[in-house]
Parts: sequence; structure tokens; C-alpha cells
Amino acid sequence: MSEKSSQESEFQEPVKLEQLRTRYLELQQELDILKQKFDDGFSEGIFGYISEDLAGEFTNKWLERIKKNTELLKNADELGIKIFGDNLEKQDKLSFQKYSKEYTISFNSKSTHVESSSVMGFCEPGGKIELKESHPSQREQLFYFVKNAKLHPTVAALVHELIHAYHQDINLDMDKELGELQAYVNGIVEVLPFNSIEDTTERISKYYGFSKDRVTSIISNILFLYSRGKGTKEVADILRNTNPTLQGDWLLEEFHIKLIMESEGISQEEKGEMIKLYLLGNQIERAKAQNIFLEVFYDWMKE
Ligand SMILES: [Zn+2]
Repeated sequence: MSEKSSQESEFQEPVKLEQLRTRYLELQQELDILKQKFDDGFSEGIFGYISEDLAGEFTNKWLERIKKNTELLKNADELGIKIFGDNLEKQDKLSFQKYSKEYTISFNSKSTHVESSSVMGFCEPGGKIELKESHPSQREQLFYFVKNAKLHPTVAALVHELIHAYHQDINLDMDKELGELQAYVNGIVEVLPFNSIEDTTERISKYYGFSKDRVTSIISNILFLYSRGKGTKEVADILRNTNPTLQGDWLLEEFHIKLIMESEGISQEEKGEMIKLYLLGNQIERAKAQNIFLEVFYDWMKE
């Protein structure tokens, strides 16, 4: 490093901010290219070649290649959560099961917990998960993801409840806002359940009666932790270990976020850029998985 640039690094803030913004533009370009490539190669007619019987085998080939080329499945794997498959009620690799040896998971549940309202599922502390809708077939799961770059809604609901289960595994008095928000903003494949932080805040605060300010603060801070390389499990460990008698959003900000920002010299503006970059990075990973589907499909047709 030349003398000049080491002097410049004293003014780290603007340099970093500028770098983050440049990186954002680069990644935006990468995403646009990936999206275009997928749009050019995909038609729903492709699924005419993937029967229900073949969908399982096809999905495995696709997942294998995703694992090799992206980090999209890392968070699910760390928690042992199975997200594509035929028997999703059999979650036998979960890295948590203190209160119950096995979580009983039932789809198409008629219980009062999920029968009414817009609740998609329910998790009873101690290990019982009920989901409103029926188990989607492998073909439905694959089709939904490839088309939307998101998990099938019923599988997303299962993931949501499994995050609650992980929190409750050691903390039955989990702060409701922290728990609910990580269950939504879980980073298992997609990060945000809705289009933006604002949209997610709007819906969740309305639905649960949480304060909008606290919801936005918690969502942003969870995303910031992910953006610093912490996985879903690591963040869940932080959240489930917070003292339930104190306000969750304040605890998170004061004892975790501020420490990182101070020790790494990250400004509020840079924090905002890091969150934006992380969200964009997640979109890229999902767009890659869509394109990998096309690669697997065209290879498969050649066989
Ligand atoms: Zn929930």
C-alpha cells in the first residue's frame, strides 16, 4: 500500500460507503443478467417433461448443483431443516429437539389453531407443528420455486414454525417480537417474506399489533447480522438468549448491533448499504438457482 492510500484510510467512512455503493451497482447488473437469462430460457411448458414420478430425482440433481454453486441451502442445512422433499413432516435431521424427541408435524390440520384466520401454521412449545394446507408434491415445490424464486408457501410456513421451534427449544419465554420477526425474516432460502422491509413491516405490525418502529428496527438488525456473515442459526442463538424481561428491540440494538458497528467502525449509512447489499445478494443466489434449474433440465433432455 502506498503512503497516500494509507493516509486516505483514516477517512475510511466515505471510502467504504462509496465501495458499498459501487458493489451494489455491480450486483444489480449481475442480477439483471441472471434474470434475463432465466426469462429467455424458461417456459412453463418445461414442466410437461417433468412428471410427478420424475420430480424427486430431478429435484435431487438440481439441489446437488445448487449446493456446489451457491450458498442458498447453507442456513437450512445448519439447522437440519429439510425444505424440498416428499416427507417434509419427517424432519429427522433437526439440530434441536430438547423438549421433544421428535416434532410432530401435520399438514392439512383442522385444529382450531390454524382453521380460521390467515395463520398458515402453529407451533406448540414442546414440539407440535400444525400446518393449515396440505403437503405440496415435489413437483409443486419445484415448480413454485423455479417460477417465483421463493419456497412454496406451505413449505415457507413450515420453516417459519421450525424457527419458532428452534427458539423455544431453549427459551419458552422468547420475546414475541424477536421470535416472530426472525420466523418471518429467516434467511432459509428467501430472506424477506414480502417485497421490501417497508412492506414486511407494514403487514407484520398490522397482523400482530406490534409497533412499526420496533418491527423495522428488529428486521433491519436481523438483516444486518446476516449481512455480517452470521447464519440463521447463529442469529437465532443470539435472539433466543436475550433476557425476556427487557424490551427485545432495544436489547438487540444496544448489546449486539452497536458493539459490531463500533468495533468495525460501521456508520449508520454504511449499515443501511450493507443491508441493501445483503438483500440483493440473496436475490442473486435465488436467481442462480433458477438458472441452475434450466441447466439441469437441458442436460437432462440430452441424456
Ligand atoms: Zn409465527
